[in-house]
Amino acid sequence: MIRITQQRAKCIGCNACVEAAEERWRISRKDGKCTLVGGIDKKGFYTVVVPDHEYDANRMAQQNCPVNIIRITQL
Ligand code: SF4
Repeated sequence: MIRITQQRAKCIGCNACVEAAEERWRISRKDGKCTLVGGIDKKGFYTVVVPDHEYDANRMAQQNCPVNIIRITQL
């Protein structure tokens, strides 16, 4: 399993994470920021635990995020 965390307030809505892992990231129509699908908010840090097969795509999302607000941890 892997844990994905996003510090959502700093998101600039560039769409890079959506292009890398479209099943896990979605641009919100409300505020233009990206939403981590399934993420639970804890003081502005959204976190979700997902199966290993999502690792590669989300690692790409992490690497491509220009403001460096995505974290991936292998559990
Ligand atoms: S790549 Fe980073 S800044 Fe761009 S939409 Fe995704 S979380 Fe936001």
